[in-house]
Amino acid sequence: MIAKINGIGMTSQRTRMRMIERLREQGVKDEVVLAAMLETPRHLFIDEALASRAYDDVSLPINYNQTISQPYIVARMIEIMRNGKQLNRVLEVGTGCGYQAAVLSPVAKEVYTVERIQPLYERARRQLRDLKLRNVSVRYADGTAGLPELGPFDGIIMACAAPALSAVLREQLAVGGRMVIPVGMQEQWLYLVERDERGFRETRLEPVKFVPLLMGKA
Ligand code: SAH
Repeated sequence: MIAKINGIGMTSQRTRMRMIERLREQGVKDEVVLAAMLETPRHLFIDEALASRAYDDVSLPINYNQTISQPYIVARMIEIMRNGKQLNRVLEVGTGCGYQAAVLSPVAKEVYTVERIQPLYERARRQLRDLKLRNVSVRYADGTAGLPELGPFDGIIMACAAPALSAVLREQLAVGGRMVIPVGMQEQWLYLVERDERGFRETRLEPVKFVPLLMGKA
């Protein structure tokens, strides 16, 4: 088993290069995001038994009925949120295993990520600490309310689907900030919410498939 994991470790750089090529073919253009995806060891965020599929373009189970998002959607959401700009402070709702937070680490100065399931929160925190990603802060909380005491944020990403566009979260956007959020129940769409001096603008982007946003801590 150890040998297998080491093997994956040694070849993962090459496998990640292939993943980057695939992301380019799928239309991801932001070099900052592609570089962050290249340096983030996705195989360390999932069970050893699934590690050989870590760089396939699929979502994978991470226990507690949750999934790690597929690489394409992680890259796409961050690209849309970043919009080519240097980001100061960002919020992610739905840490899961912590993979997307790790990809956000080199993209923003400060990353705050919130998870409602305690064992996932603890594992993600440990993993991010082991990787020495010191600008990522993991919180155990219901992220429905965001983190008003730490906002405003230049960017907000929601990694689970909300039943409707959240007014509470968009209030935590800085002027010029962008929120990327899946909305809907059976049929889900990715939305972009932009804030400027005059208010908010919403754009419906593409169909997506996310686990639902749930209320309360577990
Ligand atoms: N960002 C992850 C994806 C995690 S899946 C990745 O890198 O792959 C979505 C996560 O959202 C799940 O772990 C789920 O528990 C969490 N979630 C759902 N509702 C939530 C809420 N109200 N507050 C915080 N996290 C929530």
